[in-house]
Amino acid sequence: NTEQTQEWLQNYVDDWVSFYRKQTDEGEVASYIPILQEANPDHLGISIIGKDGMKVRSGDTEIPFTIQSISKVLSFIVACMEKGLAYMLDRVDVEPTGEAFNSIMHLEMRKVQKPFNPLINAGAITVTSTLEGNTSDEKLKPILDLMETILGYRPALNVEVYESERDSSMRNRAIGYYLLETGFLESDLNITLETYFKQCSIEVTVDDLAKIGVVLANDGEDPKTGEELIPRKITRLAKALMLTCGMYDASGKFAAYVGIPAKSGVSGGIVALAPPRVRDEDLPFINGCGIGVYGPALDDKGNSYAGIKLLRHIAKQWDLSIF
Ligand code: GLU
Repeated sequence: NTEQTQEWLQNYVDDWVSFYRKQTDEGEVASYIPILQEANPDHLGISIIGKDGMKVRSGDTEIPFTIQSISKVLSFIVACMEKGLAYMLDRVDVEPTGEAFNSIMHLEMRKVQKPFNPLINAGAITVTSTLEGNTSDEKLKPILDLMETILGYRPALNVEVYESERDSSMRNRAIGYYLLETGFLESDLNITLETYFKQCSIEVTVDDLAKIGVVLANDGEDPKTGEELIPRKITRLAKALMLTCGMYDASGKFAAYVGIPAKSGVSGGIVALAPPRVRDEDLPFINGCGIGVYGPALDDKGNSYAGIKLLRHIAKQWDLSIF
């Protein structure tokens, strides 16, 4: 029965979390945004939410953290909902780069072409510039609106993180100026960057990420009501981008060894999901579930060190790979 299944899953996840928690010291907390350094590197937490609402959570699930690059999935979705897919795909490509998220190398090489994808900074800043509104708060609004619908509450910004990034992010300013020069920006540079820094500093928990994951897993529908929150075509594209470009320049390995769409951020969060599949009839919980992970100690690619190990383990045990 359901209670037994839940208990059984809970025990597994508890064991795995305590095992991988011991490995957090092999990663390092991000420091390029000064305030992120204050995160506790020993934290590791996970939340898994099934489409029937069943929850399995373990470890440090209550710690709020900033969403960082995971917001790029949401800003892309919102921009596609506002402007349409064709419009957005004229402005950003859907190819992985194999380079770091904030790389400026390919920009030069592609002088007159669009940024590679919306999940690297050049693409994400371009996407943010297309959002409707004349101020950063107006541009941010539809992202927060969508999150509020999915989460059931309106998330807040972590102002300290926002200011820390705003005052330190010279690389993103450089990318912004480059995009301005090449004609890709559709709004004022400062307003665009302000919006981008704000979207990165939205505060979430692993439960929030799991809730976003479960909506993506179920083709953009609220699994409880069946209501369409994100059009299916846009959801599908977002998931394809997560799979090919979501885990920085370790996306190929993540696809090979974990095999599910996921997006990470430098504060140590990961949103992941397991699309519904017929062959999991004996374990319906994992069919179409959303997963949120938090572990701020990062590996050398910028992904949560223990978080990736934990996801890899779970994906193997529960046969989550979509391949
Ligand atoms: N705020 C970060 C930046 O653009 C987001 C990076 C990330 O999470 O990958 O530098």
